[in-house]
Amino acid sequence: MEESVVVAAQEYPVEFYHLMHDGDGDGDSSSSRVHGEREGSESPTFGGTSATFPFSKMTLDDLGTGSISPRILSNEISAPYEVPQFPIEQLEKKLAIQRQLSSRVAKDLEDRRSHYEPSIGTVPDEGDHAFKLEEHDFVPHFQRVSVSGEDTSGVPYEDLEQAARLLVQALHVRERYMAVSHQTFPSTASRFLRSVDSGCPHLLDVIKHEDRKTIEDHPVHAPASKGNPWDCEFMPDRGYLMRSKSGVYNVYKDQTAMDNDEPCSFPYPNLDTFVRDMNRLCVMIADGPLKSFCYRRLSCLSSKFQLHVLLNELRELASQKAVPHRDFYNIRKVDTHIHAASCMNQKHLLRFIKKTLKNHADEVVVNSKGHSMTLREVFQSMNLTSYDLTVDMLDVHADRNTFHRFDKFNAKYNPIGESRLREVFLKTDNYLNGTYFARIIKEVSADLEESKYQNSELRLSIYGKHPEEWDKLAKWAIDGDVYSDNVRWLIQIPRLFDIFKSNKLMNNFQELLTNIFLPLFEVTNNPRSHPELHMFLQYVVGFDSVDDESKPENPLFDKDVTLPEQWCDEENPPYGYYQYYTYANMTVLNHFRRERGLNTFVLRPHCGEAGPIQHLVCGFMMAENISHGLLLRKVPVLQYLYYLAQIGIAMSPLSNNSLFLNYHRNPLPEYLARGLSVSLSTDDPLQFHFTKEPLMEEYSIAAQVWKLSSCDMCELAHNSVLMSGFPHKMKQYWLGPNYTKEGVAGNDITRTNVPDIRVAYRYETLLDELSNIFKTVEKESGPVTPMTRVVIMVSFVEMFVCPCVYVMKQMFSSVLSLYIHMFRVFTCPVSFQCREERQCPIQIFKVCYLHLTLSGYVTQVNFGTSLTSKW
Ligand SMILES: [Zn+2]
Repeated sequence: MEESVVVAAQEYPVEFYHLMHDGDGDGDSSSSRVHGEREGSESPTFGGTSATFPFSKMTLDDLGTGSISPRILSNEISAPYEVPQFPIEQLEKKLAIQRQLSSRVAKDLEDRRSHYEPSIGTVPDEGDHAFKLEEHDFVPHFQRVSVSGEDTSGVPYEDLEQAARLLVQALHVRERYMAVSHQTFPSTASRFLRSVDSGCPHLLDVIKHEDRKTIEDHPVHAPASKGNPWDCEFMPDRGYLMRSKSGVYNVYKDQTAMDNDEPCSFPYPNLDTFVRDMNRLCVMIADGPLKSFCYRRLSCLSSKFQLHVLLNELRELASQKAVPHRDFYNIRKVDTHIHAASCMNQKHLLRFIKKTLKNHADEVVVNSKGHSMTLREVFQSMNLTSYDLTVDMLDVHADRNTFHRFDKFNAKYNPIGESRLREVFLKTDNYLNGTYFARIIKEVSADLEESKYQNSELRLSIYGKHPEEWDKLAKWAIDGDVYSDNVRWLIQIPRLFDIFKSNKLMNNFQELLTNIFLPLFEVTNNPRSHPELHMFLQYVVGFDSVDDESKPENPLFDKDVTLPEQWCDEENPPYGYYQYYTYANMTVLNHFRRERGLNTFVLRPHCGEAGPIQHLVCGFMMAENISHGLLLRKVPVLQYLYYLAQIGIAMSPLSNNSLFLNYHRNPLPEYLARGLSVSLSTDDPLQFHFTKEPLMEEYSIAAQVWKLSSCDMCELAHNSVLMSGFPHKMKQYWLGPNYTKEGVAGNDITRTNVPDIRVAYRYETLLDELSNIFKTVEKESGPVTPMTRVVIMVSFVEMFVCPCVYVMKQMFSSVLSLYIHMFRVFTCPVSFQCREERQCPIQIFKVCYLHLTLSGYVTQVNFGTSLTSKW
């Protein structure tokens, strides 16, 4: 059967239909108008087939053969954002239409129910978790693009089945890793997963949703914090003991438990499990048919979005215009990826240095080998006066020479090329205990507070060189009083073991892990053991992992890899090794902190900026969200999985432009069109930005280069808040009390300025994709009953003593190859008992037995429902 894209013309309200035709003054068809637009436009618009837009059908073939836009290259997806340049009289008509739409949307808001339609999606309608339509699931009418016909997504049915099975498997893996570490997994995908493994309990915490409230009832700003923000409760000492076991800290109730090796039940995936899952996913992303499938789906998502924008752009704009007070400037944005040491721009740093040199010239700032120097002396030793200093001399800005030169880029952190100045001004741990650094951070925070709607998640380093690093950092934060309502902290762990090792700072990798994690376990066990750390951790949201990803490494390792205590090489462990041990320790820590009623952490590493694609597999398994993700453009399977699981990607195109990928090749617009959860972030304003508002600069350049619409920008900002680590309560003020609800019900345009139409489109598209996949995967049969097991045993014996095996051997070169063949064709992704063991012997047997039965060599045995239902 032929597949076709149907533009649902009947959903276009009648008035608008007339409006377009009458307004055109050219009643016969819309074709001439569309052509007319195209002539006046520089943008690659839809070609011949669009002549019959929007009231006719067009086929997917047209999309595929490129007859629509022969010029669409992978990164030119931004094209449809372009507003065609109309001749002036047409422009006026267009504005008239917009005005009429605006007034109509305003009227609609009054009697929502009568004019609105339910936001529909393909939802499994069975089970307790069925989706219920609510009042706020209603959206304004918009034109939907639906695909009809036999649904095999353009691949042979077997490929579809195979692809669906693998994708479901991968989603299961991620869900497990997220659930066990108290990180989040979207409820939409989770609901679909429950539909195939019925009987499996919900893995994730159930979210309590609240009702929508008006801004009067529930303001858009969280109330400012009162009193001392560092105050917190100090719980009594729990008296637990901690010991690292193969690189992961375990927690014991008392000495006896420790002696008997009976840790508290704080589960985490062990190295074997991790390696097995990792390898399985790595095999998966190289699977040919799966690659084709995902590539097609992603292309389809791009095309669908182009159609959506073409058809609904005016409506989206109209509904944004209809919202009073709210616009792009006063919606909440979070800079989801920014390093504290470079969070100010170069001009700011220069001004700060000059100011400090003027006011504090006689402060002693360094003391090396008993020889102390004041700030004035430091500058004298460099032959510099305050007057000489310029931004050019500071030389901290990345330029064309840093492209693919991470080493040169790292050197840019040193003002005037002097590591001594970096030490004085940009470190938390120096002779002055980071006083200057705290002061400049406070200035940056003050700017954010003044801007009201901008927030940052600043990264501070913990190197793992000394056990006291945490205490020093916390003392810096509290003495410098760097708290701000607009700032939360992430801890970045640089992957520098090789350097520490070659400098003889440590013997093995375990020492690094101990320095990083032991203080955290101690403070969780007894907050008074590190009081300042306990206070500081309230505002730490997670861990980041940083360094040059393009350094050569062997990304894959097996379960026999050297354990951290024995890792004494000067070679740096691979990326995945760092991530696994960070993740596993964080998981145990989160269980412990949850038990004590404390905040938990998430993993948000730099991932996929460069280097091997296996980094992105690690990210998929273990990270709540990632920074960069540039390499996803080369791995369709992972990109599709990141889409299905809605994993946040904090992208920094300006940073990439200086380091790894030219701006015009950046995949951000492509990801955004496809519906991946992307946000914009600055990375290092000191190196990349020029203005006082680097985040706005980032948005501004993206909007202009890629011609993003106001709706796209608001969507990016909305994503940034969602993926950020700010507390749930704050997000409720910013996005609405019910922001955790799925689809339109969770959107409040009066706060987010994202049109309901866009949200409905995203949600319905995601549901479409998920149901496409999940309907091909059969429901898992119930657990194997003892009865079935007996039957299987009997049949097993029967099969092998039966002479037919000899015959089978004649038919196939070996029984084994038959097994393997059948196994590949039939194996269910979720085997009966052990979800992780794909090669479940029962499965293999079942398949072989079936084949023998079908061949007529074995008489039919009654197998019991749970098995036969499969066949
Ligand atoms: Zn970064």
